[in-house]
Amino acid sequence: QWIFLSGEFVKKEEAVISVYDHGFLYGDGVFEGIRVYSGNVFKLTEHLKRLYESAQSIMLQVPYNKEELEQIIIETVRKNQLENAYIRVVVSRGAGNLGLDPTHCSQPRLVVIAEALALFPKELYERGLKVGSVASRRNRPDVLSPQIKSLNYLNNILVKLEANQAGVDEALMLNDQGYVTEGSADNVFIVKNNTIYTPPVYLGALEGITRNAIIDLANQNGYELKESPFTRHDVYVADEVFLTGTAAEVIAVSEVDGRKIADGKPGRITKHLLEKFRQLVTEDGTH
Ligand code: PLP
Repeated sequence: QWIFLSGEFVKKEEAVISVYDHGFLYGDGVFEGIRVYSGNVFKLTEHLKRLYESAQSIMLQVPYNKEELEQIIIETVRKNQLENAYIRVVVSRGAGNLGLDPTHCSQPRLVVIAEALALFPKELYERGLKVGSVASRRNRPDVLSPQIKSLNYLNNILVKLEANQAGVDEALMLNDQGYVTEGSADNVFIVKNNTIYTPPVYLGALEGITRNAIIDLANQNGYELKESPFTRHDVYVADEVFLTGTAAEVIAVSEVDGRKIADGKPGRITKHLLEKFRQLVTEDGTH
């Protein structure tokens, strides 16, 4: 396996960075997770836009321009001879001293990893996930924007730990007012009386690229979709619940906080959107 590390391809075993890198010391950096389906890199332009916006927000200079980075990503997939893959792009602040001031970091680092990945086993897509709401709240957007896809994912990790402790497959995160925001690394949708709802991102959710693809697919297929706030109660009494994300794709939720959702099976609209999503990912993409 070949990893792109600051200007060259190196073997996985040799892909190492300094312990003084502020990505390691402070989580100072940004990242993206991107999928490759049948050799097509899905929504590459959108992922690059989000990466550069995250970097801009934290005053981090990505060491390549978008066109160069696009080529590096495609080359990483090609060099590893992957038809279907998950790509991780990481830009860290680079090596500095033990103080947290980024101005002492000499050179930002770029790492691109591509490997085969399946997040959840196939049965889970048919059975649906068990999800639990957790005590940890989504950090307030006015304090730290969820739109910055930074290397500092402690908020999400704490939420995942709670989900593990509760014995559920995934967590449902609320904001400080108790409105549902998202999962630990995925966006959430509910369906009620044939209308699809997803929380507006200002409540405290990452504007997921899969989320946006599903919004487009819902509109194209004649479904009514509203971005509006909802609570746990709305989730418990929904006809369908599903999550979306680059790693999770589109996955039904069968149970939330011990409440079975409808008949406990993936719903009609969820299944329809998943089918449309699977079509889209093979048709659409950058070679
Ligand atoms: N929410 C969070 C916190 C995430 O980390 C992710 C994963 O990137 C998502 C949602 C889903 O976003 P996307 O569909 O762009 O992968």
